[in-house]
Amino acid sequence: MQEKWNEYAKLLVEVGANVQKGQTLMLSSPIECAPFARLCASAAYGAGCREVVVIWGDDALNRERFLRADDAVFDEVPAWTRHLYNDYAEENAAFLAISARDPEALRGVDPKRISRSQLARFKALDPFYTAQMNNSLAWCIGSVPIPSWAKKVFPDVDEREAMDRLWDAIFEAVRIKGDGKAVERWREHLALMDKRTQKLNELHFKTLHYTNSLGTDLTIELPADHVWAAGAATTPRGQIFVANMPTEEIFTAPLKTGVNGVVYAALPLVVNGNVVDGFHFVLKDGKIVEAHAKTGEEFLKAAISVDENACYLGEVALVPYDSPISNQNILYYNTLFDENARCHLAFGRAYPECVEGGDKLSNEELEARGLNQSAAHNDFMIGTADLSIVGATADGREIPVFTEGNFAI
Ligand code: ZN
Ligand code: ZN
Repeated sequence: MQEKWNEYAKLLVEVGANVQKGQTLMLSSPIECAPFARLCASAAYGAGCREVVVIWGDDALNRERFLRADDAVFDEVPAWTRHLYNDYAEENAAFLAISARDPEALRGVDPKRISRSQLARFKALDPFYTAQMNNSLAWCIGSVPIPSWAKKVFPDVDEREAMDRLWDAIFEAVRIKGDGKAVERWREHLALMDKRTQKLNELHFKTLHYTNSLGTDLTIELPADHVWAAGAATTPRGQIFVANMPTEEIFTAPLKTGVNGVVYAALPLVVNGNVVDGFHFVLKDGKIVEAHAKTGEEFLKAAISVDENACYLGEVALVPYDSPISNQNILYYNTLFDENARCHLAFGRAYPECVEGGDKLSNEELEARGLNQSAAHNDFMIGTADLSIVGATADGREIPVFTEGNFAI
């Protein structure tokens, strides 16, 4: 186990964030993951990192704050928090986030407090978020188990076994076998995704039409100069990084006002510390005009109304049904994994790299090119074993992109 932990920490630091000699690493981690965070810090210093700056998170304290702090604090972001994120972004630090949460950490919290807090942070940390969204800084999100999360994923076994099983599942998902060859395996994987991405860019679809037996019947128009992306990205300084580990998706942005029809979720979604299940959206001219959920509808509705554009889509991502994480048949209750098991969409902000030259455009210019701008960005999973996606080109050709849940191109 120790060898796998070391290999994983090294993978996140050297391939994920790809920390450079002399560069600062900002590492955020739940307090329960301290032993693993220390391995990451050690790997970073091993790679010549200037300094590892650590930000600890804690589900229980976060929950207490949302339940009991003065109401005014949810509209404020203190100057020190702004400086922490914005200054390190400005200084070109790399960012590594260990994401592990109790999926129901914020059960019972007023969803308005969560949205207000999200919006306040989005505004105050705009320089940081913008740099992250347009790849001008190197960032990576990885996950390690914590007991509350592991028990939600494996409810039928005791905590210890649930932790072991979740570790095994994560190692498998990130291609770590303990043989020291994870980096090589990642290079091969990234190259394969690159090939398919190029193919999609050559086909240059005008629309994608999604249908399946859940009832999804959705047409997504793509911006005229859209770009598909996957796997690794490169900062303006040439630092190649992998923002999500694992990653199996090839993604672009929809045309903000070009999405019409109905789309059913294929998996539950954890949104702001609450589980939303059995939901569907009706979209008209890009806008979600109806949102229904069997469980957690109020949290879904709060999430799509964080601001005026949270109810428009910002991401279209393709993931084969027959893929490593999907084949594990584990519902992770963690978007980092669940999004890489299924085709998904996101409501909220689009990634600038999804249009030609987008990294250099202002938010207003991106909006003008059809890319949605919002404080929200939440992936939700829609892929099923019978999903069909047909692409239409500008000259009217129809080409199957997905049949029976898998790539047809
Ligand atoms: Zn995604
Ligand atoms: Zn996303």
